[in-house]
Amino acid sequence: MAADASPTGSQVRRSAVAVSRAVETVGDAWSWLVLRELVFDRVGRFDELQRRLGIARSTLTARLAQLTEGGLVVKDTEPGFTRPHYVLTEMGWDFFACLMTAMRWGDQWAADGHGRPLTLRHTTCGAPLDAVLACAACREPLLAREVLAHRLGGTARPQADAARPRSRTPELSLLERQRPCSIARTQKVIGDRWSSLLLRAAFMGVRRFDDFRQELGIAESILSGRLVRLTDLGVLTRRTYQTNPPRDEYLLTEKGLDLYPIYLSMLAWGDRWLALPSDAAIVLEHRPCACSVEPVLVCAGCQGVLTPRDVVPHGTPPV
Ligand SMILES: [Zn+2]
Ligand SMILES: [Zn+2]
Repeated sequence: MAADASPTGSQVRRSAVAVSRAVETVGDAWSWLVLRELVFDRVGRFDELQRRLGIARSTLTARLAQLTEGGLVVKDTEPGFTRPHYVLTEMGWDFFACLMTAMRWGDQWAADGHGRPLTLRHTTCGAPLDAVLACAACREPLLAREVLAHRLGGTARPQADAARPRSRTPELSLLERQRPCSIARTQKVIGDRWSSLLLRAAFMGVRRFDDFRQELGIAESILSGRLVRLTDLGVLTRRTYQTNPPRDEYLLTEKGLDLYPIYLSMLAWGDRWLALPSDAAIVLEHRPCACSVEPVLVCAGCQGVLTPRDVVPHGTPPV
């Protein structure tokens, strides 16, 4: 949530455009699912990726090209094989927290009554994994209402990379064609560029149509469509704040507020890998402990910090 006053204590300045850079670099919902395959199932062969995702070769080629250009994956050639496969870079592995927070939201808010599509296990403690994005200083879960964002001047308008051809908004109904997945369900909500940027603005305290328009530099018709869609999905709720002339504002619901750990993970990731010294800065303050927010992904069972290497699908035998 936004605030005007400056925080006290040590301040970690972060890029105010980190989220939009992350969105531009990673790409749309299909890119997230490619990363899901690489992180959780260690699948990197083109044909295998295509089969598991059930998408057109051209779509997969475009997403892999974007992820390669963005620095999250590199193309490798297996010895003895002519077909390339793709492996994650350190930057790609570091996207883990974004995937985990997206999976958690999907598990919580988009369940279909058949349990979690993917149960993971934390190898360190052996427990079924419940991953929580916590404050590194006090280890409490990071909640939208308990984080204050202080802008330190400049605009945080998303900067589109004009040189990059923008892929069409994906057909979101196809994301679960091959198998159920909570990350895919989350991407049905946030998996297009404008929806994710609109939610970023909402987390910064923007509520009104004209403010969204100004903040995002978005066409009115697109903004109207996204506001209706996110309201229909139960992520935003509309409230009349003025009757003459009638004016509405859009507030995050509980379901919407719970997207915050995904937003925060993307902000931290974008800040680590994509920030420029010239970026406008923001400082995030965790109200309960008054520290600058440093998000860490922890296991709710043992409180240990999670890395992708000690998270395996449930049922994987111990090594
Ligand atoms: Zn804290
Ligand atoms: Zn654990």
